[in-house]
Amino acid sequence: MKNMTLEQQVSVLLVEDEESFVDALVVGLSKEGYKVTVARDGSEALTLFESAKPDLVLLDVMLPRVSGIDVCKKIRKYSDVPIIMVTAKSEEIDTIIGLEVGADDYVTKPFKLRELLARIRALLRRSSNRTDTYNNAVGSLGNAPVYDSTAGILEVNNVKLDPLQHQVTVSGRKVQLPLKEFELLEILMSNSGRVLTREILIDRVWGSDYVGDTKTLDVHIKRLRSKVEKNASKPVLITTIRGVGYRFEKTGSPGQIKTH
Ligand code: CA
Repeated sequence: MKNMTLEQQVSVLLVEDEESFVDALVVGLSKEGYKVTVARDGSEALTLFESAKPDLVLLDVMLPRVSGIDVCKKIRKYSDVPIIMVTAKSEEIDTIIGLEVGADDYVTKPFKLRELLARIRALLRRSSNRTDTYNNAVGSLGNAPVYDSTAGILEVNNVKLDPLQHQVTVSGRKVQLPLKEFELLEILMSNSGRVLTREILIDRVWGSDYVGDTKTLDVHIKRLRSKVEKNASKPVLITTIRGVGYRFEKTGSPGQIKTH
């Protein structure tokens, strides 16, 4: 996660090919103080992502050359930058959620600028909170609470999650998790051995005012499993409790030979 201070302008990479949207969003986002870089097709988006190093990506689904979905997948291979997908048709939402794309949120065209700004702020707040907490932990005392640098590290079975560094390792191997997946894993691991209902998980990760597809949770669980489980189709760490919710298992690490 990038370190964002007050002096630095938050930069947004806007990937959009429709001029009317580009114009409106550049004006709207700049007014809010964001630095906007515009890419007009998918391959330009990938190039500009490298050079502009944005704090957030606003990504249209229907793009010339490389589709927004492929751009998102490619970025996700090496970055957990917050990504908001923009769709023209509500049918595309199924695609965004259904495929393992890795976006953090989405808006449907036409949308109100105010709604978009609220989502951008929510995502940035979550990602910068993490950074702030980390800075407080390593920085000077000031008025900030002091954190033990090892505080909050969760280690269950072969999975280790460090909330301050926003880092997850599985059997010592680093895995990249987008914000929502990270938060989901964090709440599951900090309640390991206990069943968490779907409602609790959605409430804690997406907020109590979340109005969206209930499939979102399952899709995120599926993505998480593909990253932490040895065999995602036969999960032993994140198990499904049918009709109730999910549980992160406390014992019985996969592939570990019990010596006693
Ligand atoms: Ca488009």
